Amino acid sequence: MPANKKTASVLKECVACGTCLEDCHVSAISIYKGVRAVVDSSKCVGCGKCAEVCPAGVITLEGVT
Ligand code: SF4
Ligand code: SF4
Repeated sequence: MPANKKTASVLKECVACGTCLEDCHVSAISIYKGVRAVVDSSKCVGCGKCAEVCPAGVITLEGVT
């Protein structure tokens, strides 16, 4: 695993629109109880695509050390 790996995380303001699910090429995102996207950090490769496409701007990328 690269030392600079980042993982996406979703803020509570997520509106569960599903846009990020469609664009994650490793299928790391799911909608928890229909209300909020959650990222499986073991699958996420930190590409940042979900943060780019999220219309609500609620996805951030954080470094994992
Ligand atoms: S950063 Fe990339 S791999 Fe991680 S959840 Fe977002 S789209 Fe998927
Ligand atoms: S694209 Fe943004 S608002 Fe939509 S489900 Fe994903 S994190 Fe939530």
